Amino acid sequence: MSRASIRKEKSFFTKTILPFLAEAQSLCYNQVVMNKTILVLNAGSSSLKFSLLDEKTHAAVISGAAERLGADDAFITIKFNGEKKQMPLAGNKDHTAAIAKLMDELDQRGLKSSIEAVGHRVLHGGAKLTKSMLIDQSVIDEIERCSDLGPLHNPANLKGIYAVQEVMPHIPQVAVFDTAFHQTMPAKAYRYAVPEEWYSKYHVRRYGFHGTSYQYVTRRAAELLGQAPEKTNLVIAHIGNGASVAAIKNGQSVDTSMGLTPLEGLVMGTRAGSLDPAIIPFMMKKLGKTVEEILHDLNHKSGLLGISGISNDHRTLEDTVANNKEGKERAQLALEMSSYRLAKYVAAMMVALPRVDALVFTAGIGEHAAGFRRDVVKNLEVFGYKVDDKLNNAMPGKNNKEGLISQADCPKILVISTNEELMIAEETEELVKK
Ligand code: ADP
Repeated sequence: MSRASIRKEKSFFTKTILPFLAEAQSLCYNQVVMNKTILVLNAGSSSLKFSLLDEKTHAAVISGAAERLGADDAFITIKFNGEKKQMPLAGNKDHTAAIAKLMDELDQRGLKSSIEAVGHRVLHGGAKLTKSMLIDQSVIDEIERCSDLGPLHNPANLKGIYAVQEVMPHIPQVAVFDTAFHQTMPAKAYRYAVPEEWYSKYHVRRYGFHGTSYQYVTRRAAELLGQAPEKTNLVIAHIGNGASVAAIKNGQSVDTSMGLTPLEGLVMGTRAGSLDPAIIPFMMKKLGKTVEEILHDLNHKSGLLGISGISNDHRTLEDTVANNKEGKERAQLALEMSSYRLAKYVAAMMVALPRVDALVFTAGIGEHAAGFRRDVVKNLEVFGYKVDDKLNNAMPGKNNKEGLISQADCPKILVISTNEELMIAEETEELVKK
């Protein structure tokens, strides 16, 4: 075949066939999702992440996020059919404006009428909201009361709920709480050793977070192990920008590293994790700062960012070390501290279990950072854990592969891709159908 005829065929393919296939695929999508979809929302103080899930296939039909809400340059990014579109927000540029814009975009694609319900990720359910709830005024009031315990997140989550009430008043809404899955913890794990009144009167206890992720990963791990979830014992490390670890006994949470708030436990992107509380008044005096300012430093200027002085992003630190860039020593220490602290907490979680069927890594770092997993497991060799380098380095690979990364005759280590959106959509669907 001559070059000219190859060019001609190529051009016929790109100009005629490809657009036809794209159109057909989009029609196909619309056809499928015209059945029913669940809109999953995760509202932050200045952001709103969203994902529209097909109720049958559970595939994300459309996803994206509105960012810089409340600022003049607020914008929304929408991913649909492999394309990404970014647009400025008009009007008040707040959560309601973001939902209204999202509805316009869904309407243009014939998707708006497919929404059966909206599921919200809500951070703190406190002692009363112990499972997913269909949202009514009493649930809203309780989420509001829990704002004391989740001051950064709960008011933002409520903004998302109010925005949907305003733009789609007839659509049922469900709240799925990050704390709910940990409500099975026994008192010996959730109580702090503080005066009893702090607990009975002020609800000071360990609540735990990332519950939706643990719920999904427990189910998936049981599937991969070929066991029933209610007979599965796991230590799961959810390591993203926020990070925690949980002990799962017979499919239920029995201990976790985060506490009253997400500040406790592991070294995180910008959070310090556990430290001697006496450091707080000590540094207040040294720096002349208020308790709020010190707490802000512990939540936003500590962790990987604080130690390295470079970034809260694990990848950036790995790159700094690998390429001998400026600040290499501090970046190296940040990585060592985060892997060592995690190993220490994994070991601590083991005492809550009769046996460990698998140690599981999940979330951004847990799923993608093979070097981090290797370093964590090196600190756990005393328990017989050993990574198979070939399996570990191949995970997650191009196809988001999941599975075993441990050596054949050692205790099992798994990598699993978490899917909080799917869990929220399923909980929402179930409650709405009831
Ligand atoms: P969160 O949901 O808590 O904001 P994620 O679960 O998205 O966080 O995880 C973010 C973290 O995952 C970042 O520190 C990022 O550097 C890290 N990460 C993502 N991909 C990779 C990768 N390929 N290698 C190493 N770290 C990664």
